[in-house]
Amino acid sequence: MLQKVDFATSPKKLLTYEALQAYDPESEDWQKQFARRYTHHSDLMGVLNHVEDVNETVYKKFAIAVTPYMAQLMDRDDPNCPIRLQYLPSFHEETKPGFATMLDQLGEEGDTIPGTSVVHRYPRRVLFLVSNTCATLCRFCTRKRMVSQPTGSVHKDEIEASIDYIADNKNIEDVLLSGGDPLTFTDERLDYILGELRRRAPHVRFLRMGSRMVVQLPTRITPELCAVLEKHRVQMVNIHINHHKEITPLLRQRVKMLQKAGIMMGLQTVCLKGVNDSVEVMRELFMQTIEMGVRPYYVYSTDMVEGAHHFIVPHRRMLELYEGLRGWISGPAVPTFIVDGLGGLGKLPIIPTYVREEPLPDGSGTTVKCRNYKGMTVEMPGLGQDFSLPTTSN
Ligand SMILES: *Cc1c(COP(=O)(O)O)cnc(C)c1O
Ligand code: SF4
Repeated sequence: MLQKVDFATSPKKLLTYEALQAYDPESEDWQKQFARRYTHHSDLMGVLNHVEDVNETVYKKFAIAVTPYMAQLMDRDDPNCPIRLQYLPSFHEETKPGFATMLDQLGEEGDTIPGTSVVHRYPRRVLFLVSNTCATLCRFCTRKRMVSQPTGSVHKDEIEASIDYIADNKNIEDVLLSGGDPLTFTDERLDYILGELRRRAPHVRFLRMGSRMVVQLPTRITPELCAVLEKHRVQMVNIHINHHKEITPLLRQRVKMLQKAGIMMGLQTVCLKGVNDSVEVMRELFMQTIEMGVRPYYVYSTDMVEGAHHFIVPHRRMLELYEGLRGWISGPAVPTFIVDGLGGLGKLPIIPTYVREEPLPDGSGTTVKCRNYKGMTVEMPGLGQDFSLPTTSN
């Protein structure tokens, strides 16, 4: 399903190292900056040191794309910079992982309604994959099977059939627009899709969107875009940040713009080895996020997608990371940790055990043992019994 990326036709208005240093991301509109993306590791070698000279075969599996703004945030000399690790290809991608090649390991295609780009897995809500590209491509992307295509847009007929499906199914009360990145669309196109959704599916109560634009190309967030989102009552935008180094004054400014349009902002994070698999990094990331009024929502484990195995943080370690947050930082800054089950099993919470229940020897109930965030354990007498009054018959 992946197409070969034709680098000969991609725009080559690339910024040299000096030009990149001088570049003001606010000096031109987002579409122009989009066209200046670096799409080959050899181009990035011109602006960063110690870039791995990966084999061309990595492009067969997943394209490379980095906006100038994102390249400016990368450490010029440190190959382990948490932003470089997310976006620069590595030889690890070519080594064979222990598990078989999996391009749709979450089974999304099996749950896609034929002829549409709607994944209908859960009751009452759907995932609507509207766009198949992003401003900058993450090496660990779970949707490599679709976002690597350079064309950018899901077919118009598919979008129409998707809106029809949502309109016809009155039990759908929540629509999540994702991709790819829905904000790769123009304001006009978004205005049309959101407007048609609201007009044809008035039973939809909650309209939300996942986008990484505010992180990768913040100038995509404009007053005009916010007006479109406000007009169609988009209630929530989930952004995706993995390290606090990605939080800049420009990002803060554009997040504020979205908030002023009445949008509730959420954060999702992917747990990535070498990037954020430390309690210190997660505490700082979630506190900086909550300071902006953005609520940490989910931390996902890296999916077992081809070429991303070197990012996987073991389940056991994720439990430790969670325990390093719960009780130690503000409650609203603590997200839910999730692993997405293989083959369409769905989202499964990764939750440490704080409460244990053991049966009492006389069968009269159970004892409940609780452990707090500091590791202290107490028994809670009575919590394992049922104190409800016997029901009286009338
Ligand atoms: C994540 C996801 C949703 C939304 O799940 P919430 O837990 O409600 O945020 C919906 N559909 C699919 C297929 C998903 O993967
Ligand atoms: S922003 Fe999301 S969908 Fe886009 S490349 Fe990154 S992980 Fe994939």
